Amino acid sequence: MIVLGIESSCDETGLALYDTDRGLLAHALHSQIAMHREYGGVVPELASRDHVRRALPLLKETLTKANIDKREIDAIAFTEGPGLAGALLVGSSVACGLAFALDKPVIGIHHLEGHLLSPLLATRPPEFPFVALLVSGGHTQLMRVDGVGRYELLGETLDDAAGEAFDKSAKLLGLDYPGGPAISKLALEGNPEIHQFPRPMLHSKDLNFSFSGLKTAVLTAVKKYPSQLEYADKANVARGFVDAIVDVLVAKCQTAMKQTGLKRLVIAGGVGANQQLRAALNAAANHNNPKKRFEVFYPELEFCTDNGAMIAFAGAMRLKINPRLATRNYSFNVRPRWPLDQIEPA
Ligand code: ATP
Ligand code: MG
Ligand code: FE
Repeated sequence: MIVLGIESSCDETGLALYDTDRGLLAHALHSQIAMHREYGGVVPELASRDHVRRALPLLKETLTKANIDKREIDAIAFTEGPGLAGALLVGSSVACGLAFALDKPVIGIHHLEGHLLSPLLATRPPEFPFVALLVSGGHTQLMRVDGVGRYELLGETLDDAAGEAFDKSAKLLGLDYPGGPAISKLALEGNPEIHQFPRPMLHSKDLNFSFSGLKTAVLTAVKKYPSQLEYADKANVARGFVDAIVDVLVAKCQTAMKQTGLKRLVIAGGVGANQQLRAALNAAANHNNPKKRFEVFYPELEFCTDNGAMIAFAGAMRLKINPRLATRNYSFNVRPRWPLDQIEPA
């Protein structure tokens, strides 16, 4: 079964073809980051219009790379939510229009399910069950994953998402949007002894997070400098920030492993591309005490942030379990707000 996946929930247009026999056949992506940069964030109307421009050329590119004809597609999966309404509508109308023309079924996919399952696309995929840390631009959640569609929320952020904390702190340092990768790179040159930022909720015993105080601490530190920050000052603040957020994320993962008794941890979402986080998690997983050891799995770097491959894959996994999830109702529904616990079981 060949599934076409279409992702358009925010500022990336992603298309991909996944074959349940042969794996990922091809994928293509356009990121709008450069377009939104001058506004310091995603402008929803510009995002929707750009998805309209990109979707069909990317579809052609994906079909060409996979060397198949569009009539060989068996079903079309699209991101139904959550995300920007106008952006989602583009993906869903392209999916439904194409499906109608080809007389194929469609399936709406939850964007976070796409992120959660993306590590299964890697060459060394984890087996179920596992704990998943979902750290993206809009979400920070710890989840117990028992199978496709079987997700239990263990804890989540009470305010900012981890990616948001990276981006906002980067902005305070005058770095371009999205600042996550930039502030991490800068942190590599910083001195860890200069700024000790708070580790919010580190000892709260539950699996919730809070990052807005950390952002405020960064703001306060920046304001204390009498004049414009030198490059080295910025690097020191960046280092303090990255050390603090990584500490919290790693500690909460360790608590989640202990509480669930599971031995596999999966990292998903854009912040999962962060090298400092990966290094710290790998060290924690390789604990001196064998009882505290666990395995960590990451998606391929290109599948950490938004992409079509994870949507095609989630669609294929759902349809493999239950072919009746595919529908010929082409009413291009979208669900801009859609809590993951309201997802239909597969
Ligand atoms: P959501 O999936 O919650 O709707 P999103 O799709 O915008 O949000 P992703 O595409 O998964 O989120 O991730 C984007 C976020 O990841 C941004 O906040 C970005 O700064 C952050 N990010 C990407 N690479 C890195 C990195 N190397 N270090 C830290 N943060 C990063
Ligand atoms: Mg994005
Ligand atoms: Fe995302």
